[in-house]
Amino acid sequence: MSTSTQIPPTAPALAGGPVTNPSLVQISSPVEDAIRQRIVEERARLEREAGLTHRELHHFHKPIERPFTKDQRYRTTLLFGGLTWKHEKLVHGGLEGLGYKCEVVPVADVKAFQLGKEYGNNGQCNPTYFTVGNLVQYLQKLEESGIRKEDLIGNYIFLTAGACGPCRFGMYEAEYRLALRNAGFDGFRVMLFQQSGGLNQADAEAGLEMNLDFFLNLLNGLNMGDIINEVGYQVRPFEANAGETDAVLDEVIDYMHEVLRKKSPWSVEEKLGAIADKIPMKGTVEYLGKFLNQLYSDDYMIGLAHVRERYNNIKVDRFRVKPIVKITGEFWAQTTEGDGNFNMFQFLEKEGAQVVVEPIGTWIMYMIHQVVQKIRDTKGLEEGAVMPPSWRLDKQAKIEWKYRNKLMKLKAAEVIFSREYHRIIDALGGTAHRLVDQYELQRIGHPYYNSRAGGGEGHLEVAKNIYYSNRELCHMVLSLKPFGCMPSTQSDGAQSAVVSHYKDMIFLPVETSGEGEINAHSRVQMALGEAKAKAKLEFKDVLSKLGKTVDELKAVADQHPEMSTGLYHVPKYKGVIGTAANFAIHVAEKMGASVPYHQDAH
Ligand code: SF4
Repeated sequence: MSTSTQIPPTAPALAGGPVTNPSLVQISSPVEDAIRQRIVEERARLEREAGLTHRELHHFHKPIERPFTKDQRYRTTLLFGGLTWKHEKLVHGGLEGLGYKCEVVPVADVKAFQLGKEYGNNGQCNPTYFTVGNLVQYLQKLEESGIRKEDLIGNYIFLTAGACGPCRFGMYEAEYRLALRNAGFDGFRVMLFQQSGGLNQADAEAGLEMNLDFFLNLLNGLNMGDIINEVGYQVRPFEANAGETDAVLDEVIDYMHEVLRKKSPWSVEEKLGAIADKIPMKGTVEYLGKFLNQLYSDDYMIGLAHVRERYNNIKVDRFRVKPIVKITGEFWAQTTEGDGNFNMFQFLEKEGAQVVVEPIGTWIMYMIHQVVQKIRDTKGLEEGAVMPPSWRLDKQAKIEWKYRNKLMKLKAAEVIFSREYHRIIDALGGTAHRLVDQYELQRIGHPYYNSRAGGGEGHLEVAKNIYYSNRELCHMVLSLKPFGCMPSTQSDGAQSAVVSHYKDMIFLPVETSGEGEINAHSRVQMALGEAKAKAKLEFKDVLSKLGKTVDELKAVADQHPEMSTGLYHVPKYKGVIGTAANFAIHVAEKMGASVPYHQDAH
């Protein structure tokens, strides 16, 4: 039996207004309606029984943020944080130099972690709790200091990195918003600079212009932060006067903050004055001028020369035998210097270790490298796109050209970033580690962890463990892995295979969390005991091969005061890891002794 009557599409509907384009229309009547209602109910019953109940879907939509416009800039404060205080202060200088008001959210502590748990979602990774809670805590402190909540919501913005990927980093933005709302700061603005957004995300009327000047100042601040920080970790364990390195570090970071703050961005107007508007392709000239100024000007080099001198004036004793501990792990856990990683660097130094921290520069190079790999794998085609048939030479040529063009830009980015990074290393005396080649890391890490698997540090955790151990750059690798981190958990599985293949390696993964500091420290102490023994044995072995005593070598070093300066360059010898052991060989060479060691090319 038919329950509906077909009528021509041009006829008006008998109920519900005019018909525009239906091919079939149902006549409405009480009987027809009752039948339809029964059918709907029966279908619902059957679906319920079969477990096919339809639920209404509510997809997540990014909330539309109140805009931050140029006219708000004078009264709006940008907040940011999540790195070390050194990186943050330098980035602060760079942003102030561009005319922004900004404040750094201090390093996260356990209280921040607890607030993150209280106001955020359950089941997040440890860095999410710490960083999200830290922002809430900072705003609460500002409120306690007398700033009204409406003013905080209206005149403050949190600036953070954004990403799209398989780990929870992609959800940070949403987590910030949720926790802020739960903590009573609904409407507080969170702004992202997307990692994949390229160098020019500027909008002329935007309050925050993410243009070339912005990214150059950001990268300069981060790179200087990396290298000044690393040199501090190299010098501090050997300082003759306790506390001197920290005092110098405070001073030079303040000094470079001012250098960055006072440097005005290069502009055509400033160089050419009134005639700037008359030159053709002014935008391109401006862009190129900024790049060339970054590459060839000495604007920062003079300031860095001062930092170098201050570090170099620190008197050191390199005969102290210390195990070198390389830090790896998840990006945030291996970078932060606070409760987020159990204050691990301070603890290691107190226990007699020399710490090799992980620079942010490696991560930036990794991000570029991953994009290069993806473009190579997909020929630069969007997801779902297919190559045109072979006889469409025109389309094939267009795709090839676009692919090569993208690749060329990324390769140029790799070269330029690395050049700029190494320029700062050289300006600071050349003692900091150079950036590790990403292709080398991929080569050694890929057999254990697929280098195309994104999220977190990807294959880097495994690769760095092999690289630093195999190249005799550390006695022990300590991997700091946040509780609840998916990529780090995967790495842990792969590290078992790595450790079984490289028997001599001392590798310790430590899970970081908001609690359990004593347990973590005690595990580190145990592994460090092994690393200390390794370092002592190595030093003893070197002395016996040299046929010298420490006192004999010290007497020679005392005759060369430059050898006791903070930035004196000690060569690295093949098969020798520790600073004291390498220094002993170098001093013996200075004495004119023939030494059974060769300098390492790295
Ligand atoms: S890498 Fe791990 S800890 Fe870091 S954001 Fe992703 S899931 Fe969280």
